[in-house]
Amino acid sequence: MMNLYGDRGNVISIQKRCEWRGVSVEVTDVRLGESIRPTECDIFLFGGGQDREQALLADDLSGSKGADLRSISSEGGVVLGVCGGYQLMGSHYETADGEKLPGVGVFDLHTEPRKPEEARLIGNVLVRVPLEDGSHREILGFENHGGRTRLGEGAEPLGRIVSGFGNNGEDGTEGARKMNTYGTYLHGSLLPKNPWFTDRLIETAIRRADDTFTLEPLDDETENTAFESVAGRVRRG
Ligand code: GLN
Repeated sequence: MMNLYGDRGNVISIQKRCEWRGVSVEVTDVRLGESIRPTECDIFLFGGGQDREQALLADDLSGSKGADLRSISSEGGVVLGVCGGYQLMGSHYETADGEKLPGVGVFDLHTEPRKPEEARLIGNVLVRVPLEDGSHREILGFENHGGRTRLGEGAEPLGRIVSGFGNNGEDGTEGARKMNTYGTYLHGSLLPKNPWFTDRLIETAIRRADDTFTLEPLDDETENTAFESVAGRVRRG
């Protein structure tokens, strides 16, 4: 239900980058009415969706599914929410029709609807993501959302906008991060275009079971060429 603008590519990217290194992957879809915990998965992906899908699954999310996501996130589990999924990981999302949908509350943020005079926020996005060692790396993606996300006092953005709109088009923030849980507006698909970020999710997930684990590097020339071709255009405006 939650899969927009190529979000499925995030699943494929994780799968392929693991398999190319001999790490086997099992993918489980969690549908309406199904539970998250028994899957015993190491990485959880929550894709984007329009207001309609978000409204249809809000009830389901407010039960055990939301509680499981909260505890997985607070235990340091690896979770990535994109756009509509990201919005529902905050405290609440108000749709364009004024329907107030409760969120999971993983992040201290909420999302307001687009005002009638405001445009949807659409286009390529380039984001500068701070790393633990004080350096930065960029991620690139495509956004298309009406909702404006406002971070609360306790929320840390995933990064700062170099080009594009991000959380709300005003404060320069993009996405949110809390331990190993990430939320972002970047579709595109996100992970195939940003292999370093994919590897970070994979390595973090495996290290939770084996803290000596390191991923062997892959030849990312094709991915990096794709990244540079779009990033160059985005930087030039
Ligand atoms: N329905 C949400 C919005 O437009 C999210 C759309 C999306 O996931 N791309 O704000």
